[in-house]
Amino acid sequence: MPSFSQLAPGVRRLLAPNPSMMTGPGTNTYLFGSSEVAVLDPGPLIESHLRRIESIAGAPIRYVIVTHTHPDHSPGAVELARASGAELLGQPAPEGEHQDATFVPDRILDDGERVLIDGMEIEAISTPGHASNHLCFRLLALDWICTGDHVIDGSTVVIDPPDGNMKHYLQSLEKLKALNCSALLPGHGEIIRDVDRIIDWIIKHRLDREEKVVAALGKNPDISTSELVPYVYTDIDKKLFGWAERSLLAHLLKLEDDGEADCIDGNWSVTA
Ligand SMILES: [Zn+2]
Repeated sequence: MPSFSQLAPGVRRLLAPNPSMMTGPGTNTYLFGSSEVAVLDPGPLIESHLRRIESIAGAPIRYVIVTHTHPDHSPGAVELARASGAELLGQPAPEGEHQDATFVPDRILDDGERVLIDGMEIEAISTPGHASNHLCFRLLALDWICTGDHVIDGSTVVIDPPDGNMKHYLQSLEKLKALNCSALLPGHGEIIRDVDRIIDWIIKHRLDREEKVVAALGKNPDISTSELVPYVYTDIDKKLFGWAERSLLAHLLKLEDDGEADCIDGNWSVTA
């Protein structure tokens, strides 16, 4: 992926230098506006990346916005806002692990709230699931949506309970689909143009997995989450079983919420 891309007039993307198994090529930082700038997801606290954001912005940075407070998206926000005098916008970090507690917004953005930058309107869309405080951002003039980690390019995201919630995630995917936008700008990877196909694929992938969970649970009743992993994740490397267990738990909690599975003393069964 290029480290800098001009995606449309007033829409630029910078790739943070944090590639990894979980972040793919790295975190995408988006810059909106030309005569004044809003920055979305400055990424981890990497000085060189923050200086590059300021230099490419080439104009006052008015807002630093975050999609959610995972460590690869928001820790650069406070420092960038301090250095530029920008206002911090987003939702505060929830309690728990893997959350950037340094991110404290000056203004909390709720579903439907808009930010105006250099004549561009950007609308916050509440999309809990991957993270309870996750927001997507719709660029109204282009009908593009920045999806953070709600939808990423080329891979599926981890749903890690209790902050991650599979039921909310699927509902938020339906919500995104209903907006019928023309492109998705993900937090990781390239711009996604075949929006419906990708969202449908993710929903189907999750529901197929859920079916596998129900089938495996039917054959192996009274089983712990970790014992169930190899029956459900027959298609992945054992090295990924730790993450798979988190996703499996997310599926099981959804099934419990739907009245299709029960958990007694840490062991799962399908509802009788
Ligand atoms: Zn995330």
